[in-house]
Amino acid sequence: MLDFTLTEEQTELKLKAREFSLKNVLPVAAYYDEIDKTPVAVLKKAFEAGLTNGDIPTKYGGKGYGIIEGVVITEEIAAACPGIATSVFDNSLGLEPLVLSDNEQARQTYLPKIAKEFKLISFATSEPMMGSDVSGIRCTATKDGEDYILNGTKYWVTNGGIADYFSIFATEDPKSKHEGICAFLVEKEWEGVSIGATIPKLGQRCSNTVGIHFNNVRVPKENILAPPGKGFVLAMKTFSRTRAAIGAFAVGAARAAMEYALDYAKKRRAFGAKISDFQSIQFKLAEMYQKVETSRLLVWKASWEADNGIDPTISASIAKFYATEVALEVVSEALQIFGGYGYTKMYPIEKLYRDVRLYRIYEGTSEIQRMIVSGYVLNSYQAVMPPLEDLSLHWKKNPEEVNQPEAEDSTAWRCKICGHVHYGKEAPEQCPYCFFPKASFKKTE
Ligand SMILES: Cc1cc2nc3c(=O)[nH]c(=O)nc-3n(C[C@H](O)[C@H](O)[C@H](O)COP(=O)(O)OP(=O)(O)OC[C@H]3O[C@@H](n4cnc5c(N)ncnc54)[C@H](O)[C@@H]3O)c2cc1C
Repeated sequence: MLDFTLTEEQTELKLKAREFSLKNVLPVAAYYDEIDKTPVAVLKKAFEAGLTNGDIPTKYGGKGYGIIEGVVITEEIAAACPGIATSVFDNSLGLEPLVLSDNEQARQTYLPKIAKEFKLISFATSEPMMGSDVSGIRCTATKDGEDYILNGTKYWVTNGGIADYFSIFATEDPKSKHEGICAFLVEKEWEGVSIGATIPKLGQRCSNTVGIHFNNVRVPKENILAPPGKGFVLAMKTFSRTRAAIGAFAVGAARAAMEYALDYAKKRRAFGAKISDFQSIQFKLAEMYQKVETSRLLVWKASWEADNGIDPTISASIAKFYATEVALEVVSEALQIFGGYGYTKMYPIEKLYRDVRLYRIYEGTSEIQRMIVSGYVLNSYQAVMPPLEDLSLHWKKNPEEVNQPEAEDSTAWRCKICGHVHYGKEAPEQCPYCFFPKASFKKTE
């Protein structure tokens, strides 16, 4: 049954996340953004409030939430601060390869710890020289007995400077592309792991981002999440399950910008009237609301698919690139409604504008999402409509007369080039419109 209502538990979770965000996230967001620091104490509070790690299955001491619960929580935290939301959600991204891996022993070792204690786990496919092309990983994993030795640098690692564990993607041999990709769970304290300085960013400055260097880091066999050849698929499966949440970030941030703009428009006066009385402002608000609502529908659809055992890859890509792109439009229009004040740090739009810009980049850029969706549309999408050359497009004759054996001149022949339909026992020698020969005609069914 199609149903867009949240269950009682999901509604409670949403309200809990909302209250948490308004009380603990919103008041500190501007300050931590200014000093370019992740408020680890807020991440800890989110953990204590039960708003992180929801996706750890119950058998490992987790809550066993679905993706939908995750996106409901995420929207609320992102509305208060997209950067803090990224850092809160990052555990879900970091632990997903562990949840999806075949390594039961690693799951038993790490998942209960992450569920019970405040532990952060980051995810790293990206490197200084590579982000979109995951098959181009250069960080090497060299087999040594049953262990692997890691050498190389991962970059753009969210929470990397504050995390305890990392899901690291490496390669057995950079030349072997997809076939060489493998994945490991690495601990920060292991010998040879170095954490880089915090990368200074345009926005999402409340979310820590660093590079991590591995110098002959020994990974025991117990920590292999995917052997060479299985890592690429593990990374892609992870993204299919986490991309909807990026859409949810965008919904939350866009919703907040819309609400601030609505409030401002009702109070700001110009030309003797409230600016909300001007139709051009009303239409902006209508479009902002339309974009927030349509984005949430796409995010929920992708989440619903994932939670119901349907491959969510395409829906998650669509949700991600649609929601993240329109969020930028919504925030930009909100800034326009605020006029000059929108451009200052004294109001929240300026920060949202910087924060939201990241959504089109991480977890697969908008361009990569378009490649995924166009690949599906061109190669796998099942069309309902007949092929054009078989189309019965009769505008010169009553369709009921066409192709009747008794009506000799009613056989329809369609020119495959220009679409002209000729009626007669045979196709014409030449199309009267495009001059292509008889062979270009096909009998319509
Ligand atoms: C703040 C932040 C946090 C991040 N957190 C993480 C994290 O926790 N873990 C992690 O692994 N990564 C993380 N990333 C990395 C992020 O996923 C990458 O930046 C992203 O995938 C793009 O990779 P790139 O920056 O190397 O750009 P490139 O891959 O070099 O792409 C550059 C440009 O070319 C375009 N492009 C590339 N290939 C194609 C193509 N075939 N067709 C058309 N256009 C193409 C891209 O869309 C982009 O516009 C983070 C990034 C940032 C900025």
